[in-house]
Amino acid sequence: MAIDSNRELTDSEDAAPRPATGSPTERLVVVSNRLPVVVTRGDGGAWETETGSGGLVTAMAPVLRDRGGLGIGWPGTPESEGLDEALERAAQGTGYSLIPVPLSPGEEAGYYRGFSNEIIWPLFHDLQSHCNFDPAYWETYQSVNQKFARVVDERTGPDDFVWIHDYHLMLAARELRGMGVKSRLGFFLHIPFPPLDIFVKLPWRFEILLALLRYDIIGFQTMRDRRNFIQCVRALVGSAETCGRGQVCDLELDHDRLRVGAFPISIDFKSIEDGARSHEVAESAWHVHENLPDRQIVLGIDRMDYTKGIPYRLEAFRHLLTHHPELQNRVTLVQVVVPSRRGIPEYDTLKTTIERLVGEINGEFTGQSGWIPIHYMYTSLNHCELLGYYRAAEIALLTPLKDGMNLVAKEYCAASLEESGVLILSEFAGAAAELQKGAILVNPYDVVRVSDAIHQAIHMPPDERHERMRKLRRSIRRRDIFWWVDSFLEAAIAKNLDSFPVVADYVPDGAPEI
Ligand code: UDP
Repeated sequence: MAIDSNRELTDSEDAAPRPATGSPTERLVVVSNRLPVVVTRGDGGAWETETGSGGLVTAMAPVLRDRGGLGIGWPGTPESEGLDEALERAAQGTGYSLIPVPLSPGEEAGYYRGFSNEIIWPLFHDLQSHCNFDPAYWETYQSVNQKFARVVDERTGPDDFVWIHDYHLMLAARELRGMGVKSRLGFFLHIPFPPLDIFVKLPWRFEILLALLRYDIIGFQTMRDRRNFIQCVRALVGSAETCGRGQVCDLELDHDRLRVGAFPISIDFKSIEDGARSHEVAESAWHVHENLPDRQIVLGIDRMDYTKGIPYRLEAFRHLLTHHPELQNRVTLVQVVVPSRRGIPEYDTLKTTIERLVGEINGEFTGQSGWIPIHYMYTSLNHCELLGYYRAAEIALLTPLKDGMNLVAKEYCAASLEESGVLILSEFAGAAAELQKGAILVNPYDVVRVSDAIHQAIHMPPDERHERMRKLRRSIRRRDIFWWVDSFLEAAIAKNLDSFPVVADYVPDGAPEI
């Protein structure tokens, strides 16, 4: 029987219990580029630590507490004196320990800023023209992956499950197996996996692919990413059979067998919803609207990054105001850009481009009424302000050129308590697969279509807004961040893959009649 991956789930499926979270006797070791704490020197020179606040940290905390475990990662500072004790204090009462992997400034430059962020980040987001394929980066990437592996080897035993995260550490399994480590090794890629024609541009394509095959299980964000990976394996390594027809399948090669799955990462839905309901957030949302009376707010929130498609989005907004002059004075784009990777020339240039465009568009349309078309903020919002903007905005406009998932899209829906917000989302965001039934999906490069989508959203009847947002919230609530952690850990040990659900896939609509 064919599986319709895009159908809506029935109520009984909706209420299906979560999978169990692996063997309780197994310790969980979570390895990532950064430790889940922010470490800084206080005024008196002593180390101060603050636990990270993201959904992933929240979701991992109970699993690590129940099973006991370790968090291993770079503390973000080259200094190491007194750090072990500070991390021990930070982890007190959590049930897990934090182990630092110190990196020198040279290692950080070659492995993190260089190989990870100047090669893998742009290439895996299909933007190869942004890549700097410097061979020296590759050398450092290998040696730092080896360094991480040595720490894992020293601190773990054969009964531990080691869960390695993201594109910074793709070689870790190869290094660990080379050291004779026998524990089960899992990997989750938080960014997209590119199609074959893009992946083959990587000078170290064979080394990376063969290293990934040393994991026991690899999780991708979407079915598309998983398909791309399997296609690359078949083209570059050799024939590979798959068995399993849902979210998780086994990939069998001549000399290797591993499990691959699509596990769309999510948010702590309940915590965002509860936060959005608070008095402080309601007040913050009220203030946002008070400053923009009688206007529909279109909201964009992104890190400063060329993958987020901000210049195209601004052009689409300009197109809207040019072709629908009746909307002038009636709609405002609030664009928040969170500073990121500062000091890197490419990011500085992007900031200049965005600010020039905002200035141009505001100069073109601002009239005597005092209406300013684009409210641009280059800042990081605190949680209450962020939720306030989510609640205040009638429309969210999130149009990355490519994105692993886009959690802002899910958070916006979780905060839409009245179910009246409209989500316009790039079809190239990982979240598009799950959210295609309720969002208006757009090609972010198509400024005319994005402008049409904003127009459609502004004029959308209340019933349709409600119906779409209800679907969006329901699917995000059902597969929240806890579901994500549980299903990955369960997939790592499951005997029967048929019990795993199908996750939605996204394929653009068929050609229109021309
Ligand atoms: N965020 C934040 N402060 C801000 C704006 C955003 O903490 O001022 C958070 C937001 O809540 C979300 C994350 O940053 O959880 C962005 O995640 P997303 O997947 O959308 O994009 P990424 O930055 O990971 O590419």
